[in-house]
This record gives sequence, C-alpha cells and structure tokens, in this order.
Amino acid sequence: MNVILLGPPGAGKGTQAEHIHQQYGLAKLATGDMLRACATSGTAMGDRIKAIMAEGALVPDDVMVELIRGRVQAPDCLNGFILDGFPRTIPQAEALDVMLESEGKRLTAVIELQVNDTALVERIAGRFACAKCGAGYHDAFKRPNVQGVCDVCGADTFFRREDDKPETVAKRLEAYNRATAPLLPYYRERGLLRTIDGMAPIAQVTQAIEAILGDAAKQLTYRQNFL
Ligand code: ADP
Ligand code: AMP
Repeated sequence: MNVILLGPPGAGKGTQAEHIHQQYGLAKLATGDMLRACATSGTAMGDRIKAIMAEGALVPDDVMVELIRGRVQAPDCLNGFILDGFPRTIPQAEALDVMLESEGKRLTAVIELQVNDTALVERIAGRFACAKCGAGYHDAFKRPNVQGVCDVCGADTFFRREDDKPETVAKRLEAYNRATAPLLPYYRERGLLRTIDGMAPIAQVTQAIEAILGDAAKQLTYRQNFL
C-alpha cells in the first residue's frame, strides 16, 4: 500500500504516520524530518534549507522531488510507504505520479485530516518531541506516560521546533492554503481522496485511518486475485 497523509501543519499527520509505520510496516517518508536532518548537515544546501524552513516557506519543488525520488526507490519501500508532508504542491504531485508510474507503483489512498485553524494553532503551540528518537508529544493531548521521560526510548531531553513559533505558523498555514490545498481536488478527481475528521481524539483518528486502509487492502487483494 502506498498512502499519502494530507492536511495542514499540526493536523496530526506525523502522529498517525508513526502509528501506521509501526502497525503496517510501511516505510514512513516524512519530508519535514528529512529536511530537518539536512538542515543540520553543515552543507551549503543544508543552510539554504534551514533558512527557508525558519521562514515558514516551502523548499523548491525540484529539491523536494529529488529527495523523494531517492527514498521511494529504497528497499524499505517495497512493501509500501506512507508519505507525510509530500506532496505539498501540484508540481510535486505530478512528479510523484510520473515517478511511481516508472516504478510500476500506484497510490492506494490519499487521506485528508480535516482540522480547524483554532485547533491547529493549539496543537502546534503544545507540540514537543524527544531529542533522541523524535517521538512526538503534546502538553495537553499526548503527554509522556512518565513526565520528562520519552515513552519510546527513555531519553529525558525534549525539544520544540523553531518553526512552531506563532508568527511562523501563520506563514505555514498560508502556504498550505495557497499551495497545498489545491491537491484536494487533484486527488478527488482521481478517486483517491478520503477525508476524515481530524478533530477527533488521536485514537479515534487512528481507527478511521485503519478502516480506510483495511478497505484498501481488501480491494488490492481482489484486484490481484481476480483482475
Ligand atoms: P503534523 O505532522 O500534521 O504537523 P503532528 O502529528 O505533529 O502534526 O501533531 C501536532 C500536535 O498535535 C502534536 O503535539 C500531537 O501530539 C498533537 N495531536 C495529533 N493528533 C491529535 C489529535 N487528534 N488530537 C489532539 N492532539 C493531536
Ligand atoms: P513539516 O515537518 O511537514 O511541518 O515540514 C516543515 C517544513 O519543511 C515546512 O514548513 C517546509 O518549509 C518544509 N517542507 C516539508 N515538506 C515539504 C515539501 N514537500 N515541499 C516543500 N517544503 C517542504
């Protein structure tokens, strides 16, 4: 299965992508994480990416497409992948279509998480992550089981993203509405879009995604066996 999670910053894509990765063994391709790693590489390209991200702007399409091309061809994507944060523009979506076609792969579903702006701002304001393994948390909605200790790796150091500052968040939401929201009709027209209520609690959103993936898996098996 090859799945895209679509939604504005703070919608819960990373939270759900991690769960799907663990539960279904799909490779998790989170472009924000890849870019944050690149931004600390000390290279000229890393510095350029860091500056763009700090502004809340989008990294150029050609850079993003090459980044993803390298990943979808990797062996861990043979069983399928879940994209979190890509595509974010129509040219990225078109490049992904071409890339997948040349690999003999297709998209299974594009899942949109719908969340209103007030909740997005609240989610981003309270977001933090483990400095060692990157596991994501929230001050109110997803606290570690033991305060100050990461549930996943036991580390005791956490960080908050530079671009989660309110002034940068406003720019990121504007970039979503301008450049990324047009992907909704793009995928709807292709019969791939499934929209779920991202305002629900984390576990309920997970259930809704699992229901979609369960249906998709049945359809894939049917196609493989009978068509
Ligand atoms: P995205 O990857 O779409 O930017 P995240 O998965 O990082 O979003 O979620 C943003 C913040 O909101 C995180 O702190 C996360 O713990 C929290 N969160 C995610 N999903 C929900 C939800 N359904 N209800 C409440 N908080 C959530
Ligand atoms: P995210 O972690 O998905 O919220 O992404 C953080 C930042 O990385 C974004 O605000 C952009 O600056 C950059 N970024 C991530 N994915 C993309 C993409 N597909 N296209 C352009 N910029 C991206």
